[in-house]
Amino acid sequence: MARSYVHEARRRVGPKRARIGPIVARLAAEHEDATIALRFRSPLELLVSVMLSAQTTDVNVNRVTEQLFVKYRRPEDYLAVPAEELERDIFATGFYRQKARSLRGTMRVLLDEFDGEVPTRLEDLLRLPGVARKTANVVAAELGDVQGIVVDTHVRRLSQRLGLTRQEDPVKIERDLMKVVPRADWGRFPHLLIWHGRRVCDARRPRCEDCVLTELCPASRI
Ligand code: SF4
Repeated sequence: MARSYVHEARRRVGPKRARIGPIVARLAAEHEDATIALRFRSPLELLVSVMLSAQTTDVNVNRVTEQLFVKYRRPEDYLAVPAEELERDIFATGFYRQKARSLRGTMRVLLDEFDGEVPTRLEDLLRLPGVARKTANVVAAELGDVQGIVVDTHVRRLSQRLGLTRQEDPVKIERDLMKVVPRADWGRFPHLLIWHGRRVCDARRPRCEDCVLTELCPASRI
């Protein structure tokens, strides 16, 4: 996109602070069902699911955890089997060696420092082995203690297209979003962008002709 065209597009849609309200409202109306796609019944299952979801789809994780959570119910259970057995049990999620190592390390810290409970404070979650900011944000938000905005590949792409950030780094994107998205919407905002990204604003072929955000989006092709 030529620079002048980008400038013109930004001018056409107006400042992001004025657009964010309508963007959230329209996406919320469009994707009423936008919630986390991972299936879990406890904070521990949530944490494990999110850790397993790195580099794979939520559908794939749900397929694996359906069996996994029958066998592994408490943090102790992940440590009671040989590492190779856990690796086999999560094999289908990919990167199984690394994920098994992170899971076992996390269970050890949960038992040693958190009485076997999953903490909700971001700084505590970030102390768990293999838990990075995105995972911590997802877990905290789902447990009702939203402290940031989850930035995954969809959130990154849509935030950039919608002109809410010019950054590439997820931590900097999150910082930009936290300045413009009202705090009350920090939890649902990423879900809305993720579902909109999956259904309409595809990475390679955004379907602008079917999008409810065309006149609010500087990247609109309409
Ligand atoms: S108008 Fe097009 S580029 Fe903008 S959010 Fe909608 S689909 Fe994506």
